[in-house]
Amino acid sequence: MDNPSTTSSTPVTDAEQAGWQEIEEITRKLTEEFRIKDQTSKSRGYEISGMTCVLSSAYEIPTDNPAVLYTSQPRGSDYAVEFLLHGAAAKRELIEYPDYPQEPYRPSELKERPYSIVEISGKGLGMVATKDLAPGDLIVAERPLLVAPRLLRTLGSVVFNDNATKEQQEAAKSFETEKTIRYAYDRMRPEDQAAYMKLHNAHLHDGSGPLFGIMRTNRYALFDLQGETYTGVFEDLSRINHSCCPNADRRFNRATLSMQLFAARNIKKGEQITTSYCDLLAPYATRQLSLAPYGICCDCPACLDHVESDKNRLRISHLQSAVPAIIKWAANPALPDDLLLRPSLTMLELLESEGLEATRHYAQVLYHSMLIYSALGESSTNECLHFMARWAKLKRWDAGGSNPAERGKHDLEKVEIASFARRLLATGEGAAVVFVTEVN
Ligand SMILES: [Zn+2]
Repeated sequence: MDNPSTTSSTPVTDAEQAGWQEIEEITRKLTEEFRIKDQTSKSRGYEISGMTCVLSSAYEIPTDNPAVLYTSQPRGSDYAVEFLLHGAAAKRELIEYPDYPQEPYRPSELKERPYSIVEISGKGLGMVATKDLAPGDLIVAERPLLVAPRLLRTLGSVVFNDNATKEQQEAAKSFETEKTIRYAYDRMRPEDQAAYMKLHNAHLHDGSGPLFGIMRTNRYALFDLQGETYTGVFEDLSRINHSCCPNADRRFNRATLSMQLFAARNIKKGEQITTSYCDLLAPYATRQLSLAPYGICCDCPACLDHVESDKNRLRISHLQSAVPAIIKWAANPALPDDLLLRPSLTMLELLESEGLEATRHYAQVLYHSMLIYSALGESSTNECLHFMARWAKLKRWDAGGSNPAERGKHDLEKVEIASFARRLLATGEGAAVVFVTEVN
């Protein structure tokens, strides 16, 4: 096999150079350890051409455009993340993110971690709460061990001989994928390597090598770079079991390179903490299909009684922003007070009965309820503040993009102006308003 051509805008370190010299050694180890040599040897079907790779220092952008680029981020951190990136532009986009880099958020509430990783009957290891948690409570802010694109380019392009069978081609691709990840793995700290290898592998018998098998079993989609989805594998977060009624939700924060996991509803001490690996509003059959690569056959309440649940989730999936409708209703005192309130509270109950507090739809209905109560005037102030607090606690983990607090303030102002007449009616000054309206 040819040695890859190593190019870099800065001299590679001795350690990195030694790494490349070891690629033959890695290949040898791979073929011995994973016994796939017979299917992928050059004589049986393929050869490698055009390997290019760059090992760059943390904030250096390579001037050429390597197919694969390895970097540790952020620079100098003893809690750095190993990245496998496609091209220099992806690295530029990663490090030019606003406010990047920052340390992961560590509020006082996280001084003692509120969870432990323990054996869960029939599900391997899982995460369990070690204290009571309320909606919006932060459970962990964790950086990934390794980040890589969902659709990995291999270091070398695999060129097949005409007589290569489909199986040989698949095995060769797996082999090259494994080697490409292996190089990132070899750059990781020993304790991170050990944590990675301890994770569950649901792909022991489909030709995936161990590193790729573990990646496929444990990765979460994190963010896009240059239009490609990047995924990350975590030491603790990857231990959380899936549920279609999860009690926790997560957001990846680009500036801190950490995933924030927070309670979506009340979680009791000793209760298992769950998150979702699929589209929660998709029907049962679609969910099971998308869970298969994780080796999961879900038996949550929504999957057990999926006929009723599918109907409910379909209804919930049609939910859209009702802000324009709320403003119209608020401006018209002739419309009944409970016109929008009733459907909103019914939808909230439906979401809670389906265990969908971790969806954006739930926060949206809390938000609608807050606006509706605000339009109903002083007698509903407590309800308005109640829903505002619940919505704000869940929304505080929204990372980047729109500012929920600004939007909330803006919408509340619009509702307040629209509901001027309605609010006066609610406080007993309706006659004056009607009078003024008639005179005008
Ligand atoms: Zn399920």
